[in-house]
Amino acid sequence: MIDKKRQVLQTIEGLMTSDGGGVNLKRIIGSPQLDTLDPFLLLDEFRSENPDDYLAGFPPHPHRGFETVTYMLQGSFRHKDSAGNEGLLTSGSVQWMTAGRGVIHSEMPEQEDGLVWGFQLWVNLPKKLKMTEPDYQDIPSENIAEVNEEGVTVRIVTGIYNGTTGPASAKTGMSYMDVHLESNTVFNHDLVDGWNSFVYVFEGSVKVGDENEIFVGNLAVLDTEGEVQLSGGHEGGRCLLVAGEPLNEPIARGGPFVMNTRGEVLQAFEDYQNGVFDKTISR
Ligand code: MN
Repeated sequence: MIDKKRQVLQTIEGLMTSDGGGVNLKRIIGSPQLDTLDPFLLLDEFRSENPDDYLAGFPPHPHRGFETVTYMLQGSFRHKDSAGNEGLLTSGSVQWMTAGRGVIHSEMPEQEDGLVWGFQLWVNLPKKLKMTEPDYQDIPSENIAEVNEEGVTVRIVTGIYNGTTGPASAKTGMSYMDVHLESNTVFNHDLVDGWNSFVYVFEGSVKVGDENEIFVGNLAVLDTEGEVQLSGGHEGGRCLLVAGEPLNEPIARGGPFVMNTRGEVLQAFEDYQNGVFDKTISR
């Protein structure tokens, strides 16, 4: 029996911007159109065949108070951080970095030409985990769980779909899936009531519920009750389906630091400047 279907509350196109050393990308969450979708603070899509758009990469920079989840569709980036972790992100792989109390990392392309295409999502941490030990999960493409149904392929990064569990361990309640639908095929998935969720279409078009067709490059914010029904548009489509339990805590942002209060953000800047940022901090 079909539960209530989640409806589209809002559709957002995202804004072209530049970040890191001068990488051109599209900011979808974390922009004036959609400042945050608790617990998600930011969603960027980087997609270019022009090396000038990505060669500058993201030279060393700090983070504190949240997690970054990078999903590469195409291309190759090297990650290095102050906790001693290093990994090469290649096509289809995921890097899940928990900044916690602080890391300094770099994310640099390891290719000189060709397509670079992927996503970075920032997932907020609750107050009790903001100063947790940094953590790092490097998940190669072949370890991403995949479910193949008729005309539907679901890659599960984290969360459970139809009895199959994704490999990444999330610090907070969430699921992250890449759903590929041929035209007129249907995918149903019951999300936890109360969780926020979104669909970001990156190929073709995807219909959400009975009415709303979402086209490539658009993000749909869904309501918080019932199950998600997706179907492939005219020429099929592919999307991210991401859901998370809202933290309902105050958010204080200061560039690469996301804490609960302004004072905690200032403390993060101070710790970073004093070089104690990524060392054990006695509190
Ligand atoms: Mn970063």
